[in-house]
Amino acid sequence: MLFLEVCKIFNKIENTPKRLEKMDYFIELIKMAEKEGSPSNLKKICYLSIGRVYPEYENKELGIGPNILMEAIKSIGIKEKELLKSIKETGDIALSIEKLSSQIKQVSLFQKPPTLEEVYETLKKVVEIEGVNSQKKKIRHISNLFLITSPLERRYIARIILEDMRIGMNVPTILGAFSKYFNVPKEKLERIYSVVNDIGIIGAKLMLGVDLDKDQDLKLRLFRPIKPMLAQLIPSIEDAIKEIGTPQFETKYDGARIQVHKKGNAVKIYSRKLEDITNSLPEIVEEVKKLKEHSMIIEGECVAIDLNTGHPRPFQDILRRFRRKYYIDKMREEITLRAYFFDILYCNEILIDRPLRERRKILEKILFEHNNWEMEREKIEREIKSPKKIDISYKLTTDSVERVDEFYRWSLSIGHEGIMIKNPDAPYTPGSRVKTMYKFKPTLESLDVVITKAKIGMGKRKDWYGSFEISIKNGENGDLCPIGHVGSGLSEEELDKLSKMIESIKIEEIEGEVIVEPKIVLEVTYEEIQESDKYECGYALRFPRVVKIREDKSPEDINTLEDVKRIFHIQKGKGIIK
Ligand code: AMP
Repeated sequence: MLFLEVCKIFNKIENTPKRLEKMDYFIELIKMAEKEGSPSNLKKICYLSIGRVYPEYENKELGIGPNILMEAIKSIGIKEKELLKSIKETGDIALSIEKLSSQIKQVSLFQKPPTLEEVYETLKKVVEIEGVNSQKKKIRHISNLFLITSPLERRYIARIILEDMRIGMNVPTILGAFSKYFNVPKEKLERIYSVVNDIGIIGAKLMLGVDLDKDQDLKLRLFRPIKPMLAQLIPSIEDAIKEIGTPQFETKYDGARIQVHKKGNAVKIYSRKLEDITNSLPEIVEEVKKLKEHSMIIEGECVAIDLNTGHPRPFQDILRRFRRKYYIDKMREEITLRAYFFDILYCNEILIDRPLRERRKILEKILFEHNNWEMEREKIEREIKSPKKIDISYKLTTDSVERVDEFYRWSLSIGHEGIMIKNPDAPYTPGSRVKTMYKFKPTLESLDVVITKAKIGMGKRKDWYGSFEISIKNGENGDLCPIGHVGSGLSEEELDKLSKMIESIKIEEIEGEVIVEPKIVLEVTYEEIQESDKYECGYALRFPRVVKIREDKSPEDINTLEDVKRIFHIQKGKGIIK
């Protein structure tokens, strides 16, 4: 299959705003792969159409920012001045290279146009290049690709490299196309996707005609991390009891989520963004290895603990541990970690369809702990300052508002964020914000937003970007919607760091404001959410303030317009939750 044929359809997809038409064009791609009898080509098409080379769960990135791409473009003869001018006009590096293609040095006329496999393999190579001179080597591979392709292909190669296809294809739309073409209910495909996190494998299996209910590759599997189940906000404890009956309440720890996979002596730890962070957390790995059970997947919150108080240390400390590649032993001395496990998804067999109460029992057996707050409060309080590295979450199962209120206040008094409220009868539903798990925190919910634009600061901040346009996501179509500008809450150190990050993801500058790739997630608080016509989404944050740069979260994790509407409703109808 020629890459150009695929690009021609990408172009059709790009040119229609209608989702159903996009789906129909994608079906043309499925048919092309089917005609060749190549499930593996369909797999590649799936990844490329969402701007990836590897499956979503693998978290491997091409590691090429716009600056390196520009170097590659210049190295094949396109003049910098004209390139910059065109980027300014089009707002798109990819369209600029396509437009300026006539400047590219000619290669032999006998050069055959590349196939999908050839382009894909080169891109894969680019991902895998590491070490000394890796950037130079990456540039060389990319320039070679540009030399042997046509203008349209160049557009899409550039976009894949930037991991931003801009054709409006996303996983839900591809699943929609699969559902239509292969005649399988969309909900079923969504359920499978939430476990495999790999759109390519679903396409390949559908084309192969396997039994989707039985195929082992489509089931939860050790060492293939899954997206965690997410919680919703609830206005009050009373509401939670009304809805669930007798919920299981747990302390909501102030840390970062981890998913630990173990098979015998092999242990891997994944972050909520599904990054492999095993090497950064050796003490947790050691403790998990000691657990008797052979195979398991457990989930918990990893907290940086101040052993003098037993309270969590600032969130930045946990990130310092998570992202560490060097001097890990030294850091381990400096920042003590403790993982509080709260769920188990696999224990010699898949457990996600079992109710929480059963999963919790299994987890308690494995960890030899109950941490039943009412019965073991003294023990818990004693152990809080101990050097214990792994533990089970503190729980309270009750329908008494007074007892929950006490537990909630106690959880806050030991420095954590609030409480989680879980339905003991509920299965584990990966990747979705469910109505079976809630969170209750003392302030109005903070929002996770993504930076979409940045402006240079003034006065003392003139050397940094000092003001950022922040956006949420429209849950229906995935579009980003600006909801405010934030500048406060950041230390000089953080401003410096953010500015460097912004430089590397800059797309275009218009009147002193730069548009950036939506990659940096911030957690912000605000005084309130207002209805406003300043932004298209209809809402604006009043006095937003940055709480944290959430390097542990990805743009997919940000809050949605629906969340904002819900918080607005809570704020309006019930007053601010105290
Ligand atoms: P949020 O990030 O505010 O949406 O809150 C949900 C997050 O709380 C989860 O992703 C976990 O990382 C974290 N968390 C802390 N303690 C618990 C707990 N006991 N059970 C479940 N999630 C928890």
